[in-house]
Amino acid sequence: MADKQYKQLGCLDVQPSGGCGFQVRAETEAELMQLVATHAKQCHKLDSIPPEMAAKVRAAVRTVTVNV
Ligand SMILES: [Zn+2]
Repeated sequence: MADKQYKQLGCLDVQPSGGCGFQVRAETEAELMQLVATHAKQCHKLDSIPPEMAAKVRAAVRTVTVNV
């Protein structure tokens, strides 16, 4: 058993009024941004994440410790 740290983000953290319950967890911020970009494209029709939204995303990222 070991504790592992993950970066976690929910769509609602970035867009509280968006009503999207998507949550993502990744080992690194780079990986997380990649997953967020994919989700934004598929579900929110954003071909790329605008800089101001990327800043919001980074600000909303939480580090969680998971027991694996
Ligand atoms: Zn979403």
